Amino acid sequence: PEIISYQPTINIGLIGHVAHGKTTVVRAISGIRTTRFKCELERNITVRLGYANAKIYKCEDERCPRPLCYKAYGSDMVDNPPCDVPGFDKSKMKLLRHVSFVDCPGHEIFMTRMLSGATVMDGSLLLIAANESFPQPQTLEHWSAVDLLKIQNLILLQNKVDLVQGEVARNQYQAIQKYVKGTVASNAPIIPISAQLNYNMDVVCEYIMKKISVPVRDFVSPPQMIVIRSFDVNKPGCEVLELKGGVVGGSIIKGVLKVNQIIELRPGILGKDASGNLRCSPIYTRVASLHSEQNKLQIAVPGGLIGVGTTMDPALSRSDRLVGQVLGQVGTLPEVYTEIKIANTHLLSKLLGVTMNGTAQGKVGGLIKGEILLLNVSSMATGAEVLKVKDKHAKLRLKAPVCTSLGEKVVLSRRIQGHWRLIGWGVIED
Ligand code: GDP
Ligand code: MG
Repeated sequence: PEIISYQPTINIGLIGHVAHGKTTVVRAISGIRTTRFKCELERNITVRLGYANAKIYKCEDERCPRPLCYKAYGSDMVDNPPCDVPGFDKSKMKLLRHVSFVDCPGHEIFMTRMLSGATVMDGSLLLIAANESFPQPQTLEHWSAVDLLKIQNLILLQNKVDLVQGEVARNQYQAIQKYVKGTVASNAPIIPISAQLNYNMDVVCEYIMKKISVPVRDFVSPPQMIVIRSFDVNKPGCEVLELKGGVVGGSIIKGVLKVNQIIELRPGILGKDASGNLRCSPIYTRVASLHSEQNKLQIAVPGGLIGVGTTMDPALSRSDRLVGQVLGQVGTLPEVYTEIKIANTHLLSKLLGVTMNGTAQGKVGGLIKGEILLLNVSSMATGAEVLKVKDKHAKLRLKAPVCTSLGEKVVLSRRIQGHWRLIGWGVIED
């Protein structure tokens, strides 16, 4: 039961248009900057998936008024902190939830990164800037990704209300309300906030508690984890004896991982056989350590993001090379495919995220034999050639092998005006 204190039990994604405040919201809630990579600091945008953990507490005194009774701390908070609401300062706060926030890049060219992250989300916060017109292109594109990946628990955050007059904020709030009617977000709360000034962040914590429930988890199946990040943590010039093995980050979807366990990663290492055909061999390695931010774990459970230190060659895991792979108990992982058939192909009625001639959005045409699409299958992104199309069925040859199962969802993007655009989805069939 105390595992919640060490490892987050749920992943919440931050999505929305670039610069609407995703990274700032994560910082306001967790106290951690997720923009960590040098190239990101220089460009001030999130390129890779960032993450930060936070603990949400509530005052144990039932009379303590909402939303003040809710407060979040970084996951390094181990005590039950005192309540800071005047009149309730003798009461302690109770740990309700330990959350991993997955900070997705909002820029259009990183849409596939957003989709990789989306596969592990149990809920999401969609950011909308109050000082810009609504909706912005990536707001819609992310929104429809949430829709087609069936991410249930959505909360809309109207951010930067400090920058506009009350009247302007109220008008936009109504415009958002009107827009969400009849969409996946029809029941989603809309919360006006200023992440920068920490305004209404307690309401955000309250709604995370009330609107995003922890799904029922499977602790008994053989463990399986989806990799959404991977690293070489060694500094250049590091001594051989001090070299650390490759590290992968992701979320366990079922089962329990243990330190010292021998694991397999699929598809593994890609290569070609003597006759030039694509080949892959699984990576076998040992779990050297498990961690959730600074907490070292002996076992890790489904839910919040974890890091797995391994004994594999760190060159294999350098700069996200293993993103999209599946990690788990040896001999229990799904099949690896280089050709798939999809059924129930569903194409969007219009292109999102594209403005043509200022405002109009284009129509999405059917799949064409011979064209190259970008596929997202679970957290793997790969190019694919359309070999055959018939009604709602298509056969695709993948540029990179994918470890997946029949019945899994495949997200389809097409290159339009130089960018990969979400055009629809299908389901893998036999
Ligand atoms: P992201 O691209 O969605 O991650 O956006 P960031 O969190 O990096 O924020 C983009 C810019 O907006 C930064 O300069 C932030 O300081 C600023 N910003 C974020 N939230 C607020 C807010 O509530 N009020 C104001 N005035 N600025 C904000
Ligand atoms: Mg960001």
